[in-house]
Amino acid sequence: MLRRTTAVTALRRTPSGPYPWEVDTATTTTPADAVVLATPAPVTAVLAGRHDGALAALSAVRSAGVAVVTLCLARATTDLPATGTGLLVPLATPWPGPDTMVVTALSFLDRKWPHLRRDDDVLVRAHVGRSDDARWRDLDDDALVARVADEARHLLGRIGPVRAAHVARWPSALAQYEPGHASLVEAARAGASALGLALAGSAYDGVGVPATIGSGRRAAREVRERLAR
Ligand SMILES: Cc1cc2nc3c(=O)[nH]c(=O)nc-3n(C[C@H](O)[C@H](O)[C@H](O)COP(=O)(O)OP(=O)(O)OC[C@H]3O[C@@H](n4cnc5c(N)ncnc54)[C@H](O)[C@@H]3O)c2cc1C
Repeated sequence: MLRRTTAVTALRRTPSGPYPWEVDTATTTTPADAVVLATPAPVTAVLAGRHDGALAALSAVRSAGVAVVTLCLARATTDLPATGTGLLVPLATPWPGPDTMVVTALSFLDRKWPHLRRDDDVLVRAHVGRSDDARWRDLDDDALVARVADEARHLLGRIGPVRAAHVARWPSALAQYEPGHASLVEAARAGASALGLALAGSAYDGVGVPATIGSGRRAAREVRERLAR
């Protein structure tokens, strides 16, 4: 049974029952032989922390928030570099506008994905936000689009009028691997394993889709081996 868009509200031990765990949502209770927690680390801490101190300590894993702003610009009046799929903007880059730039990268979408090419427009995607820069959160969508367009104009030299824009906000997106992270994860994994739980996600084996898939496979293997004993 796959329950989409449904939050788990509690993870309860039921050692005297036929299954060692029960997983609660607002409206359901599901008995389980084993549980893989693939939620963000702070959520895992809330769900499983009362069963183990090392799992509770996962609440310390911070994450960086980012936003992705996609601009649809008139092609005829937008100057992109002759080659390349985008550019990265160093931390604290000055520009003629207020304080330093909020944009961290620009991608020229149809150079990465040719099916996005349009005759009259060019799609430029801007990334904003870092672990130490959340200024984008203070800007509403219109203000963020205007700021990003101004910075893109400064970076590229000339951009056409913004014909359309889309803002996607990811408030707690990227787990931060701070000093002590490896031992935090090692202890949490040991605590989870002792309880018959497994952990998966970008907080444990590396940030990014390939590492996260690997983390999920590792958790599935752990559970399968445990259940086969
Ligand atoms: C803008 C952006 C661009 C990126 N680009 C790339 C890229 O190009 N290449 C790359 O490799 N990586 C990229 N990443 C990183 C990659 O997307 C993440 O590292 C990866 O998706 C993390 O997967 P995850 O399963 O750990 O976390 P998530 O994808 O965040 O999954 C956690 C899930 O837990 C769910 N959840 C939370 N609370 C509960 C609850 N109580 N009950 C049930 N479910 C809950 C959430 O709804 C969510 O679905 C990008 C990330 C961002 C934000």
